[in-house]
Order: sequence, then C-alpha cells, then structure tokens
Amino acid sequence: MKKRIFSGAQPTGNLHIGNYLGALKNWVALQDDYESFYCIVNLHAITLPQNPETLKQKTLDLARIYLAAGVNPETSTIFIQSDVSEHAELSWILSTIARMGELERMTQFKDKGKGNSERAGVGLFTYPILMAADILLYQTHLVPVGKDQKQHLELSRDLAERFNRDFGETFIVPEPYIPPVGANILSLLDPTKKMSKSDENVNGSIFLLDDADTITKKIKRAVTDSGTDIKFDESRPAINNLLTIYQLMTGKTAKECEENFVGKGYGHLKGEIAEAVVEYLQPFQDRIKDFDDETLNKILKDGAEKARSVARKTLREVYKKMGIVGAGN
Ligand code: ATP
Ligand code: MG
Repeated sequence: MKKRIFSGAQPTGNLHIGNYLGALKNWVALQDDYESFYCIVNLHAITLPQNPETLKQKTLDLARIYLAAGVNPETSTIFIQSDVSEHAELSWILSTIARMGELERMTQFKDKGKGNSERAGVGLFTYPILMAADILLYQTHLVPVGKDQKQHLELSRDLAERFNRDFGETFIVPEPYIPPVGANILSLLDPTKKMSKSDENVNGSIFLLDDADTITKKIKRAVTDSGTDIKFDESRPAINNLLTIYQLMTGKTAKECEENFVGKGYGHLKGEIAEAVVEYLQPFQDRIKDFDDETLNKILKDGAEKARSVARKTLREVYKKMGIVGAGN
C-alpha cells in the first residue's frame, strides 16, 4: 500500500509562483509515489471575508490550475473541501482537544488578524484546527507545504498525538514536506513579507496567469537591496529572493546562478529573471485552456466521492473511540 499525501490551497485569489514553487510543484513531483489527495479548501477561504460570486468562480479556477500544473486526476484525488462534510465535523471534534494557548501562538492568526484579536474572526483563530482535520481524515503520511504552514502542521501533529494518547491509536501522525529551495518566496515589493494571494498590492506577486508584459513590469519594479553584488545572502533578502526565483525557473545550481551575474547590474538580473519566468510559465498557461467545465465537474464529483469514502471511515472510528453514538448505533 502506498503512503498518503494530503495538501490544499485556498480559492482566495490568483495563485502566484510562491504557491507553485512551495506547494503545487511538489504535489506533482510526489504524486506517483503516494496516494494523493489535493483539496480546494473553500471552507478555509471564508475565514476572511469573500465575495460569494468570486469565491464560487475561484473554486473552479483553482481546480483548473491544479490540473494545468500537472496533477493527474487519474491517479490523484482532486476535490472541494465543502463536498466532504467530514472536514467540518472532525474540526469540531479536534477543537475539543485543542488548547487556546497553542492557537494563540500561531503567527498566521497574528498576521491575518492584524494583531487585533478583539475584531478578528473566530474562524481565523480556529483555522489550524480545520487544517488538522483536513490532514488527519485521510490518514496522511506527508504534507507538502510552504514554510508558512510549518507551524500549523506541527499543531496537526500535536493534535493527532494527543487524540491517540487519550482515546487510543487512531491517526497517522503526518510529516511536513517543505522543499529546500522555494518554500518561502517573498513579496517583490516588501521582502519582509511572503508573497501572498490575499495581498492587496498585486504588484508584490507574480501570478501564474500573468502575461509576459505584466511579469516584466512587476520584476522591473521589484525592490532591491543596497550594494551591488548579486549573490545568495539571506541578510539581503530582496536580491536573495530574486536569485532564488531565477534559480528555480532555470534549474541552475546556486553557483551557476551567481557566476551568471558576475560583473552585471540589477537591471540585467531583472531582465533575465523576467525572461526565465515568462518561459517557465508558458506551458502551464497553454494547458489551462484544455479543461472545459464538463470535464472539470466530473473530476471534482468523482474526487469528492473518493475522498468521502476515506474520510467517513476515519470519522466513524473517531466517534466510536470517543463514545459518540446516535440512534441505531
Ligand atoms: P492567502 O494569502 O490567501 O493565505 P497564500 O498565498 O498564502 O494565500 P494558500 O492557499 O494559503 O496561499 O497556500 C497554498 C500553499 O502555498 C501552501 O502550501 C502554502 O504553504 C504555500 N505558499 C503560500 N505562499 C507561499 C510562498 N510565498 N512561498 C512558498 N510557498 C507558499
Ligand atoms: Mg496562506
């Protein structure tokens, strides 16, 4: 039996190269060695206000993006979170064993709640519990995510271990898969922040569907650090980030990248990055047109069925262990 992968993305906006390099690329690379579940996490998306019509559209768009990125629907399960009600049910159960203190330590809540817990939504606060439910329902071994999700994944592990200890062995304790390069692509305009779909300023992100002209303009506008050297150096995050993008787009080694820019200026670096990004995204942008609504709906319907059958089994086990019974049980 193959081990399992679970991962997901939120239909909160347009996917950017950070999402691709930190997550999707690895979903595709790992999918043949694992039994994979790739979810469109629309219940997570509503932890911040969404326009209902846009959310609906973005949910389908995201499924199309998974497919164009190379997720194979014949072997991987692609589904929408809200189609499998077990996610919300297990989230409730896990909220009864999660502790306020451990959620209060989550940095995403602090960032997205803008440090104002009086006004921040309760759903935003409990977001990591729903994420734990997503993962644990599928008896997941490996979760390919970007670095920003590491802390949430640790909570998923803690909740799995706590449940297993209190109620008996039930959940597989998942491991993160965080790629060595590309797990934390930074905003082009503010390298103290990660690139984010929900960033109000779209110029900080390169979206997977941006055209060549937009990509070139965004990279030209990217902030740089003082100094002139073009080298990997974490103390100069803007150039480090641009070089990392270049490295991932070209497949060159770090040394080759640095050698390529010896004696050259930032303008030259930006020009080469823009070209590399445009070329890298072209096949993806061509493929996205291949999936019509009918094909998409069929894939999502089949995916939901498959996911539901696995999720139901786990949830039943959880209820049984906890002594939760309904009529006729
Ligand atoms: P939002 O701002 O709405 O949270 P997001 O850009 O953070 O959007 P998510 O849908 O939350 O995207 O995350 C999808 C996946 O992409 C996760 O695995 C996450 O870790 C990864 N990811 C997000 N941003 C980056 C980034 N800047 N670099 C690398 N990986 C990232
Ligand atoms: Mg996010």
